[in-house]
Amino acid sequence: MYRGNHLITMPNYPTHLIACHECDLLQREIDLPLGGEAHCPRCGAMLYRSSPGTLDNTLAFALAAALLLVIANAYPILGIDIQGNTNATHLFGAVRYLWNHEMHLLSVLVGVTTMIIPALEIAMMLYLLLPLRLSIVPAGTPFILRTLHSIKPWGMIEVFMLGILVSLVKLKDDAAIIPGVALWSFGGLTLMLAAVASSFNPRDVWHKIGTESGREQQHE
Ligand SMILES: [Zn+2]
Repeated sequence: MYRGNHLITMPNYPTHLIACHECDLLQREIDLPLGGEAHCPRCGAMLYRSSPGTLDNTLAFALAAALLLVIANAYPILGIDIQGNTNATHLFGAVRYLWNHEMHLLSVLVGVTTMIIPALEIAMMLYLLLPLRLSIVPAGTPFILRTLHSIKPWGMIEVFMLGILVSLVKLKDDAAIIPGVALWSFGGLTLMLAAVASSFNPRDVWHKIGTESGREQQHE
């Protein structure tokens, strides 16, 4: 059981049992060879895999995503050249434009799903993984993991990217489109967030915390 920065060992607690996330079958956890995977015998779902460097990979993807998010918000997404008049816009400028033109709900949706949620997701990932990299257990880990899980469906950078691409195709006959630095950054950010999602597994976090707590208890 985890409370604050310390693991509390509970007597008679079945520490080596794992429930399948697909069919709920309870089974005993076994040690795996490097790169090995454990699958549920009933439904075949992958239960866990042995990949010691996974947290480091996730941290690297999250750091790259943080950098790309800053660039994506600091530079124009695209410019439109109509008869010599160039107009470039940032993501925040687009959100403000929607708000000022009475499209409040759409403005909030775009702002939340493309700026706030991805920023929160990346910030929480770094808050978890940077201290763990330095063998420090961050405070509030269970809350952060639960929040990450619940906000995940609301990050919609990929939908936003698709929307931009569709608009580009539709506008290309009427105006000269100048792709901005932020557009490429959004493309990279979409890939990095997908990489974070596929490499991150909360089980690795708990495993790492268990290892660190074990070390602390040995030193006491
Ligand atoms: Zn199963």
